[in-house]
Amino acid sequence: LLAVTGLRKSFGTHEVLRAVDLTVHTGEVVAIIGASGSGKTTVLRCLNGLEVADAGRVEVHGSLAVDFATSPDRRQLNALRDRSAMVFQHYNLFPHKTVLENVTEGPIVVQRRPVREAREDALALLARVGLADRADAYPFQLSGGQQQRVGIVRALALRPDLLLFDEPTSALDPELVGDVLTLMRDLAAEGWTMVVVTHELQFAREVAHRVVFLDEGAVLEEGPARQVLTDPAQERTRQFIRRLL
Ligand code: ATP
Repeated sequence: LLAVTGLRKSFGTHEVLRAVDLTVHTGEVVAIIGASGSGKTTVLRCLNGLEVADAGRVEVHGSLAVDFATSPDRRQLNALRDRSAMVFQHYNLFPHKTVLENVTEGPIVVQRRPVREAREDALALLARVGLADRADAYPFQLSGGQQQRVGIVRALALRPDLLLFDEPTSALDPELVGDVLTLMRDLAAEGWTMVVVTHELQFAREVAHRVVFLDEGAVLEEGPARQVLTDPAQERTRQFIRRLL
């Protein structure tokens, strides 16, 4: 589905991504792990067009979508952005909009889908995650776990090819983490293609097909989830995993 090569990004003199390569196949769940500051979030943001990388190529279904080295124009970036939808660590819901408005905003305003269709779609998705009766609530009236489920529904409503999750449970109280992980597990089982930045190694082991270990802005190691998480080839990966367990 997606092949990223040589992704580079600096903020000022700080080189955050140093030629990251990443391939994601359709239906695959890829977990990105790594220490704080290793560049995990920046990779997702470059894929979603929230950051413009300095260099690197992204191919979608085998054909070139964006070559960041040649200052891609807005149309190219939008084409890449439209492929994916992002779920944020802090949910990033619009505080002054209702749950339903949050979910339908993208489909109606960006994708120009008919209002009625977008609403019906949103209500069906909210029902699916047990939040149909909260459609008219405002984010502050929901628990963190409920807000994050709305965040996930908002991403699903865009009908993307690829779901990007940026530490979706790390802002949640421990007792609320389970519901969100269960929903993500269900989405994976349905065949959604997902890239998940996470510190939840247990989840990564159970759900991810592949784990990518990012170290100081480069992929140090990647492979089948079980292998990377239980028998990593690199000592730095081993140290990182040991610290998290
Ligand atoms: P964490 O697990 O803490 O979220 P991460 O691996 O996701 O870390 P990033 O958020 O990608 O790491 O950040 C990598 C580095 O880039 C950090 O040192 C961060 O301070 C820096 N950085 C990220 N975004 C910006 C920005 N907009 N401007 C300047 N520096 C930034």
